[in-house]
Formats: sequence, structure tokens, C-alpha cells
Amino acid sequence: MFYFPMMHGRETVYFTGNSLGLQPKTTQDYVLNELEDWATYGVEGHFHARKPWLSYHEQFAAPVARIVGALPDEVVVMNQLTVNLHLLLVSFYRPTKTRYKILCEAKAFPSDQYAIESQVKFHNLKPEDAVIEIAPREGEHCIRHEDILEAIEKHHEALAVIMIGGVNYYTGQAFDMEAITEAGHQAGALVGFDLAHAAGNLKLQLHEWNVDFACWCSYKYLNSGPGGVSGVFINRRHLNNPEIIRFAGWWGHDKATRFKMEKGFIPMPTAEAWQMSNAPVLSMAAHKAAVDIFDAAGMDKLVTKAGKLTGYLEFVIDEINKGLEQKLEIITPRDKTQRGCQLSIVAHGRGKDLFNKLTEAGVISDWREPNVIRCAPVPLYNSFEDVYRFGEILKASL
Ligand SMILES: *Cc1c(COP(=O)(O)O)cnc(C)c1O
Repeated sequence: MFYFPMMHGRETVYFTGNSLGLQPKTTQDYVLNELEDWATYGVEGHFHARKPWLSYHEQFAAPVARIVGALPDEVVVMNQLTVNLHLLLVSFYRPTKTRYKILCEAKAFPSDQYAIESQVKFHNLKPEDAVIEIAPREGEHCIRHEDILEAIEKHHEALAVIMIGGVNYYTGQAFDMEAITEAGHQAGALVGFDLAHAAGNLKLQLHEWNVDFACWCSYKYLNSGPGGVSGVFINRRHLNNPEIIRFAGWWGHDKATRFKMEKGFIPMPTAEAWQMSNAPVLSMAAHKAAVDIFDAAGMDKLVTKAGKLTGYLEFVIDEINKGLEQKLEIITPRDKTQRGCQLSIVAHGRGKDLFNKLTEAGVISDWREPNVIRCAPVPLYNSFEDVYRFGEILKASL
């Protein structure tokens, strides 16, 4: 189903689907079809391509909604992740004199930090004052849920927006998005999530959890290729709200009258209202190939397998630890409800040398300075045998 990078004449143990998902074997055909239709029809491909480009993005609403637990109206695929994060903050971070703070996790993915800081400055506010960061306690790696709730409570009068990564990219910790959303709403704030490490990894229920907005990329767990198109969720209650501010473009305009090319923006009644530009069809073709696979597999089955596969990796590391003086420390929560498929492992007392040995022996994992190895056995294409092989290689490398 997927192409695995090869090393020494055999498939690698690929544990970096959390960074760039593997290429489905169907993707090249999907992309080639669009290139062929472009060659055959030129501009007429907007109407005559096998999947007409004019409405190309529409085919994602239903399957992507199934991946993130949304209604099809609430989902649109467009742009790239950080761009979408900005567009969503334009609409949902509307600070007032009294309610202007934005709460996020400390050491969020850098792009999210930059987005939040620059949004705050865009509103002539100071990040030191307006951004509240929740950090792990001294000596701990993960953020305690009660500390998030406490911060929400503490700042409730000034809190405008909560914007947290659904799964922390570094520790692999999954947050209780439903409870955070509820607490945020009780405090009078809007709640959004960056799901870069959650989409296609966790069982999400964005609509039921009442989340206000969210965005994710498609190239990590969603296997849609480097720099692939991003997805956005906007809760139905914010659709068709004439008060809402957004940066508009022609693809967000009511499609019935879009090509009258007239002055005066009339938004689509769905999340499509946030679209600015016409669809990047080549990138979306790769996304379609991947989304079709997710639809065939279903998130429920993937999540069930992920629990077992990552549980097995945890077991293998614990077993290896029994023979070690200086233990490997799993900093990802042991509780399966607080993680997806990634395990982050601190290799105490060992340097990048260990990682290099793993790589030479055919394991593609991810090294973060000073000494963290991130491993994500992905249920869609990784096997229990991959985990076993990883364990053998790890043992030999130690
Ligand atoms: C991967 C990732 C990004 C990357 O942003 P792009 O705009 O796609 O380059 C941003 N935020 C988080 C949380 C990520 O995990």
C-alpha cells in the first residue's frame, strides 16, 4: 500500500510518519490523472477533468469530516497549516480592552508560537502580557491537565482564546480537548486546536466536543506529501454569522454568483467561506489518494491498532531497559488516553551517536536535541514486526 524508503536492500523501519507520512502507492496515479487532464483540456479541465477543478475541493468535505469528527459543512481543505492558523486567528482572536489574552502550551511548535505572537502584535498588544503559556511542572515533561484548567480559571475574565496543539509534537502528549473546550467556554473564551499531530492519529470528535475552530496539515499522519494542503474546521455555529471578520477571497464567495465577478463579498454558507484562492489541484490530488485510504480503513480501526502497536513498542522498550544501567525514559504519557501513536524517548547519557547507529541499521526515527528520540509506529502502515525489528536494532545499538 505504501512505499517504504529502502536501505541496504531492504525496507527501513519507518517511524517518522509523525513528520512526513509515507507515499501511498496510489498517489502517483491520482496526480498523473490531473496532469493528463491538464494536458488534454487546458483551462477546460475546470469543467471537463475527471474530477472537475472548479469543485475539486468539495470532494474532501465528507471524508475529511469523518477523519476529524465534524459535519461536512464545517470542514474545508485549503492553503497550508500556518497560513490557516493565521486566518482562523483573524476570525476568532478579536481582543477587546478587557478580554485579550490567548492561552497556549509552553514550547508549542515554533510556527504556532510565532503565529500567536505576531497576531498579538498585530492587535498592538504585548506578547508578555497577552500570551499565557502553560508549562510542565519543574522536573516533569508533560503538562498536567489540572494546570491547564487552573490557568483557564485564573485568567477567565481576560481570556479571549485558547489555542493548543491537540497532541504536543515533542512529548506526544494528547490533551483532553473536550474538557479544555468546555472549561474555555465556561470562561467565556473561544477554543481552537492545532491538530497537526492529531489529525489521522487520534479519534477526534470536534463537532461533538464543541470545539470552535481547528486546523491541521496533511503531510504528517495524513500521508499527502511534503508541504501538502491543510485542513480547517469551523464549528457550525460560526458559519453564516454576518458579524464574523475574515480575510476574504473569491473562492470563499457564494459559488452561485462567484463568476459574475461583482463587487461585494457574499460568503459561502459553509467553512468554504474561508477559502481565498482556487484549489491547488496537484497537491490536493495527493491528498485525495490518502483520504480515500483513510476512508477505507476508518479511524476506529486505526486507533484500535495504534493502541496495540504503540503499547507493544512501550513493552519492548521496558524490556530492553531491564538490562540497562542507565534507562531509556519514555516521556510520553503511559496512559493510552493521553497519547496517540508517538513515543518520545529520552536517551539519558547517550548522544546523537545512538541515533546515528539506529539510522545506519535501517531505522528512520527522529532526533531532537539534546537527547530525545521520537518514534511513531503508524497503524496504517507499520507492523508489529517493525516494532520487533526496532527493538532488536535498539538493543544492538546500545
Ligand atoms: C508540523 C507542524 C507545523 C508546520 O506548519 P506548516 O505551516 O505546515 O509548515 C505547525 N504547527 C505544528 C503544531 C506542527 O506540528
